[in-house]
Amino acid sequence: MSIASEILRIHDELKPFATQLIVVTKTRSIAELSETYATGIRDFGENRVQEMVEKQAQLPADIRWHQIGHLQTNKVKYIAPFVHLIHSVDSMKLLKEINAQAKKNNRTIDCLLQMFIAQEETKFGLDETELSGLLADPTFGELTHIRIVGLMGMASFTADQAQITREFQSLQATFQRLKADKFGEETGLVDWKELSMGMSGDYLLAAQHGSTLVRVGSAIFGERK
Ligand SMILES: *Cc1c(COP(=O)(O)O)cnc(C)c1O
Repeated sequence: MSIASEILRIHDELKPFATQLIVVTKTRSIAELSETYATGIRDFGENRVQEMVEKQAQLPADIRWHQIGHLQTNKVKYIAPFVHLIHSVDSMKLLKEINAQAKKNNRTIDCLLQMFIAQEETKFGLDETELSGLLADPTFGELTHIRIVGLMGMASFTADQAQITREFQSLQATFQRLKADKFGEETGLVDWKELSMGMSGDYLLAAQHGSTLVRVGSAIFGERK
């Protein structure tokens, strides 16, 4: 199976849904990224800052780079000049640093708030109380160089489809409620339009539950080493 045929297959599967494919290219070679680019894909996801920066320098400038993995505050400055969307914002401290670095680069950086939906201890993310607290923080309105455009979540690492379904349903419900309430939108810094959930094993399930962005790697390239 070629990269192109896998991407075509996934595009076909996603056709009935308003769901966009982000190709997760972490650990993949420049040759594999170039091959991906040649299929027309422009949305690339990486989880490590250094790797993203190195690849960005070697590949065409019209690629939209998505930071999907946990982001340390001290690394924001390296991706701030070019990153398209940060999926993994889970604290006010991080948001403030993204704002400061965006301002330095004379741009506004779009962010998703990462929500904790899995049963595992290891996954990062906010719960609903923390999310409300963050958006209601008096200093939030001062962050004029960021924009919150939605939510991101990772389901439990399990083969139990019923459990994954419950987790996706719960995140979809949170997203729909925030959207209906226009929660935080009075600040002018929030626009509930993107829901990033679904990976190689569960992207169709995620699309069925309202995901607008799926992050898929190994279903396209094979297992990572
Ligand atoms: C690696 C990664 C993915 C893609 O995982 P696959 O199983 O290879 O599709 C998606 N989201 C995040 C946050 C990741 O780190």
